[in-house]
Amino acid sequence: MSTTVDRSAAQSTLNVWQMAQRQLDNIAQIIGLDASIHQYLREPKRILTVSVPVRMDSGEHRVFEGYRVQHNMSRGPGKGGIRYHPDVTLDEVKALAMWMSWKCALVNIPFGGAKGGVICDPKSMSLQELENLTRRFTSEISIVIGPEKDIPAPDVYTTPQIMAWIMDTFSMQHGYSIPGVVTGKPIAVGGSLGRDKATARGCLYVVDEAMKELGLAPGARVAIQGFGNAGLHAAELFAETGYKIVAVSDSRGGVANTNGLDVRKLVAWKGEQGTVVGFGGGEKISNKDVLEYECEVLVPAALEKVITQENAPRIKAKIVAEAANGPTLPEADDILHDRNIMVLPDILANAGGVTVSYFEWVQNLQELFWEEQAVNERLRRIMERSFRDTLDHARRLKVNMRRGAYAVAVGRVAQATQLRGVYP
Ligand code: GLU
Repeated sequence: MSTTVDRSAAQSTLNVWQMAQRQLDNIAQIIGLDASIHQYLREPKRILTVSVPVRMDSGEHRVFEGYRVQHNMSRGPGKGGIRYHPDVTLDEVKALAMWMSWKCALVNIPFGGAKGGVICDPKSMSLQELENLTRRFTSEISIVIGPEKDIPAPDVYTTPQIMAWIMDTFSMQHGYSIPGVVTGKPIAVGGSLGRDKATARGCLYVVDEAMKELGLAPGARVAIQGFGNAGLHAAELFAETGYKIVAVSDSRGGVANTNGLDVRKLVAWKGEQGTVVGFGGGEKISNKDVLEYECEVLVPAALEKVITQENAPRIKAKIVAEAANGPTLPEADDILHDRNIMVLPDILANAGGVTVSYFEWVQNLQELFWEEQAVNERLRRIMERSFRDTLDHARRLKVNMRRGAYAVAVGRVAQATQLRGVYP
């Protein structure tokens, strides 16, 4: 859903999994986490690696590698998206699964953390090939998913159509419709109103809270890296609410205008051209320069590890709202904190997506659908409460917002894990 960015300049000695474990180790020390629970939470509960043979349009078969990782299910069934990307690795999926455990706990929805991924280049595949891949992958992971076990959803480069194929394949195996096996579905097959924009909307709600907290004036300038599901909808929603979108980018490059971009025209351009590059309403800028653009709010909405030790000193924003998962390296986190920049961590800033996924799952189980206003209203309450919980913990522990969020989230997962105990 989000777009690719050039990660070559952002190499850290840590890979994302080590980064995720380091974040846990760090908070374990701060909150005095019990050593055995810490050890338990440091590794995923279950990892499934599958080979996915796919019949390509040429008639040949190609075998793709895919994963489903379940990190922790003490608070409920696993929850988390499936990513289709050429750079997917098992370590990345493990990190993303761990982050889902914290995210679901922070917004206090009754799910554990899971994630899936398939190493593939969806941009070079036809719709038929994507369907074949999705159906076979679903079939391979069907032994570990289900509405009471683990519920996938969209992530980078996976769409509502792909969710519909997952739902259909799983349902065909069982002989009846099981919409609750996956979220992010099209409305026509049991999706929830508001799910498509939920990640961006949740991000907007927490940025609004942060703006008030920091006493920033309305009409703030926003720069967005990534123009997939999260980035594009963020541009639309922030613009509708009175923010000024000054820079955006996708995997091919970016466009900027200090007077503000015309978001409606930009979205139409992206729809026609498949990229924001070449849009006439601004000047060309690089994907990396978007991060350093003059603005009050920076929204990294693409991939991991883009805010580094190297560029963190040059970031101009007052608020960094992580619509992507894992965009900021731990070293960069400390630099931003020292520079008084408030980072709204991924597990808070992009939790709107999984929150409305939870609403979708509830609606599927109840077979009773809600109006969009009810979805958005409930989402707002959850995001505002989660922002408060994060800020309160950050203040009390005298730490940055990421650690504040981790203190809440890891504490909740640890408590559930401890209460359930170890069997036998
Ligand atoms: N992929 C999204 C995330 O990283 C959504 C997950 C979900 O809805 O389950 O939060």
